[in-house]
Amino acid sequence: MSQQRGVKSSELLPPAARVHILGAGPVGLLMTALLQSTGRFGVHLYEKRRDYTRTRMVQLASYLVADSVASYCTDYIDQESVQAIFDLEEINEGIAFRQSIPSDLMTLLRGWAQGFCPLNAIERSLSDLIDARQSRPVHRTTAVISGQDAMAMLEPGDILIDCTGTKSVLRDELAPGADAVNPSSLALLRENTLNVRLEYALVITFLYGQAYDCNESCKYYKNIENPHYKFIPAVNRTYYDGSISHVTGIVKISAEDYERMPSRFDGQWLRDNFPHVAESMDRFIGKVKEETNGEIVGDLEVIRIPLDLYRARNATSREWYRKGLGDHPFSRSPAFLVGDSAMGSPYFQSISLGFECAMFLAGLLAQRDLPIAEMLDRYELYAYKQWLRVYMRSKMIKHNKDLLECVGDTRALLEKLHVY
Ligand SMILES: Cc1cc2nc3c(=O)[nH]c(=O)nc-3n(C[C@H](O)[C@H](O)[C@H](O)COP(=O)(O)OP(=O)(O)OC[C@H]3O[C@@H](n4cnc5c(N)ncnc54)[C@H](O)[C@@H]3O)c2cc1C
Repeated sequence: MSQQRGVKSSELLPPAARVHILGAGPVGLLMTALLQSTGRFGVHLYEKRRDYTRTRMVQLASYLVADSVASYCTDYIDQESVQAIFDLEEINEGIAFRQSIPSDLMTLLRGWAQGFCPLNAIERSLSDLIDARQSRPVHRTTAVISGQDAMAMLEPGDILIDCTGTKSVLRDELAPGADAVNPSSLALLRENTLNVRLEYALVITFLYGQAYDCNESCKYYKNIENPHYKFIPAVNRTYYDGSISHVTGIVKISAEDYERMPSRFDGQWLRDNFPHVAESMDRFIGKVKEETNGEIVGDLEVIRIPLDLYRARNATSREWYRKGLGDHPFSRSPAFLVGDSAMGSPYFQSISLGFECAMFLAGLLAQRDLPIAEMLDRYELYAYKQWLRVYMRSKMIKHNKDLLECVGDTRALLEKLHVY
């Protein structure tokens, strides 16, 4: 066994490896475009959707296009954490990789990092760019791919990259011995998924016909008369495009409310069925209108979701590969989780996080002399560091949100404080 490991520890990828990328959401598409540019890999992209229809406005972080350590560490919330978690050398490596990104792709990234953009515009632009590069065609398949399908198509030396999002098809396949888990032991702790449920919430999105921007004072004062349910515009989630403001906010709800709601509905359904929640939202919107004399454009869109902060304990097939277990496909072919399939947070710019991991992985795969075992180790470590960053930031935001919700109630506020 140790001899087998010795051989494997220096094993390299074949010179012209095949890469299977599952999921053509934003992260799978960026991963594809990055690997396509290298010309080294035969890239196969699998996607179940036929069209890109998600129109929600999303924002990409400016660190994605940073060209110096200083410009990488400008986020006022987690600037210090970034410097504490990542070595300078790692940050420099990331910046050097950005400089190697072809200009067609970099131009897109720079545009998206300027402000808000519809999610499907990002997806369509990346997809079109991939199709336009005719000299290095990507093999595309429209189908629902299961974890078993994915493993069955692997040939030794192939690379598998799972970008299928939160409900990743591979996440729970990456930990050997998954069958040994007692499903009744911990509802939120599956074998390869660590899940921290922050709260249940309604995500309410609306368009408003005037410029409207929000800050913490606004979040507090516009909620003063809302004793229980409070409408909180999410961090950096208001955007004025010159004629319309796009506003996304959340209202914390109980687990019982959550169970009694459909997954998606409009403002009228909320008013008819959960008047107290609707009143708090309408009061908030009423104050916005008083201040800025605008009107809501169209209807409110409401979805109810559990706000989960999660990560894959294994973001790669490293455990299978190390153990060299029998005929299992992951003992011969490396697999990686990238994007929401690896980790996610409701308060984080998750697309940027996924893009960042995609860039790091593309940088690793480009190194022809890097043994597979080291590649797996380095990606695991990188994913873990990203997780630390997301975890610290998300817990801080959740804590601050809890505090904000009880400003004015001194006893409730003190109960939430841990000072020294
Ligand atoms: C209301 C809301 C607002 C948000 N706002 C922001 C924001 O401002 N900024 C930000 O960065 N993020 C935001 N996010 C999060 C962001 O949308 C996700 O992080 C991002 O879409 C994740 O990208 P992904 O490519 O990893 O996964 P996904 O976007 O989930 O893509 C996964 C792809 O895989 C495909 N797929 C899944 N299963 C299979 C299968 N079995 N076979 C084949 N194909 C499959 C899916 O069809 C999909 O195309 C928001 C999310 C929500 C819900």
